[in-house]
Amino acid sequence: MLEATNLFFNRAADHLELPEDLRTILLTPRRVVRVEIVTESDDGRLLHHLGFRVQHNSVRGPMKGGLRFHPSMDEDHAASLASLMTWKTAVVDIPYGGAKGGSNCDPSKLSNRELYRITTRFVELMKEVVGPTVDIPAPDVNTNAQVMGWIMDEYTKYYGFSPGVVTGKPLDLFGSLGREEATGRGVMYALQEYLQADGRSLSDVSVSIQGFGNVGSNAARLIAEQGGRIVATSDISGGIANEQGIDIPALLEWTAEHGVVAGFPGAEPIDGADVLTFKADVLIPAALEDALTADNAAEVQAEVVVEAANAPTTPDAHDILHRRGITVIPDILANAGGVTVSYFEWSQNIQQFRWELDRVNQELERVMRRAYGSVADLARDTGLDLRTAAF
Ligand code: GLU
Repeated sequence: MLEATNLFFNRAADHLELPEDLRTILLTPRRVVRVEIVTESDDGRLLHHLGFRVQHNSVRGPMKGGLRFHPSMDEDHAASLASLMTWKTAVVDIPYGGAKGGSNCDPSKLSNRELYRITTRFVELMKEVVGPTVDIPAPDVNTNAQVMGWIMDEYTKYYGFSPGVVTGKPLDLFGSLGREEATGRGVMYALQEYLQADGRSLSDVSVSIQGFGNVGSNAARLIAEQGGRIVATSDISGGIANEQGIDIPALLEWTAEHGVVAGFPGAEPIDGADVLTFKADVLIPAALEDALTADNAAEVQAEVVVEAANAPTTPDAHDILHRRGITVIPDILANAGGVTVSYFEWSQNIQQFRWELDRVNQELERVMRRAYGSVADLARDTGLDLRTAAF
C-alpha cells in the first residue's frame, strides 16, 4: 500500500523535477512507533494486539491523522495513510503535518469494555509521542466519538485538561458541531465543484456509493438532500440497488435499527462488489483501500470517481480509469473535509470557544471549494490528472 502512495507522490515529484534527496526526506516518516497492547478480556483471558503510530511529517505544523481499528492495520498501512495525511492537510492548506495509526484489533469481536481497555492502554503506551502541539489523533475506520472521548480522558489523567490532544470528540466533551458529517459533507462539495464546471448540479446525477459507514452514509444523506439520486450502496452485509433512487432517510432508519443495509425493503439485493461497477454517473468508494483494481477498473461505468475512502484506487486502476477518460477526484482532496473540521475543533479547543454549526459548515465549504479550485486550475494549466496535480 505504501508503494502505491509513493508511486503517486513520485509522479508529482517527476513533474516538479524534485531531486532524489528531497524525495527521500519527503517520503521517509519522522517517527514510527509500534507497541504491544496486552489487555484482559471480559472473561479473564489475555488479549494481545499491536498498536501503531506513524508520524510522517511535521514541517507545516503538528502531525494529524486518524486511528484505525482493523485487523489489516500494520506498519505499512499506517505509513501509507500517514503520508496521505501530510499531502491532504497541505492540499486544504491547514497548519498540520500528517500521521496515522491504530490497532489490529477487530471491534466487531470485542465488547465495549474490552475496546475501552485496548484504547486506554494504547494511550498509556503512546502518551509521550502525541499531544496538542505534537500529534493529534482523530477517528478513522471503526473508531468514533466515543473512542476519542476515552482517549482525551486517559491523556488528561497524565497531563491535565487537554481537549486539543484528539479531535472528533463527543459534543459534550469539547467536540465540534458538524465534525461527524464533515468528511461526507466535504465529498459533496468536491462533487458539486466538479459538476458546476459544466453547469450541472447534484440533481442531474445518479450516484453509487461503496460503503455505508460514517463517510458513505453522510455523503449519501447530504447528496440526496440536494436532489442527487443514490442508486446503489453496500456494506459488509452486501449491496442494495434501486434505479429510481434509494430513499436515504428510510435507509438510515433501517441501518440504525438493523445495523446493516441488507434486507432494506426499498431496494433489490445485489452483490457488494457490483456497487463499484453499477450503472451510475458518479462512483463514490467510501470503504477501504484497494477497492478499484486492475480487475474491475475497466468495468466502472461512472464518468467520475470521488475517493471518499483513503487509497481506494490502485495505481493500475487509476491509469485504466484515466485512459478511459474517467475523472478521479483523489482522496487527498475529496475526503479532506474530515480533517478540516478536526482543525476547526482543535482551534475551538485552544480558544475554549464553540462555533455555531453554520460557521463550521461555511468555513468547511470555503476551504473545500478553494482547494478544489486550486487543484483543478493546476490540472487544467499543466494537463496533469487531478491526483498528480493535488500531490
Ligand atoms: N481519518 C480522517 C482522514 O483520513 C480524519 C483525520 C483527522 O481528522 O485528523 O482524513
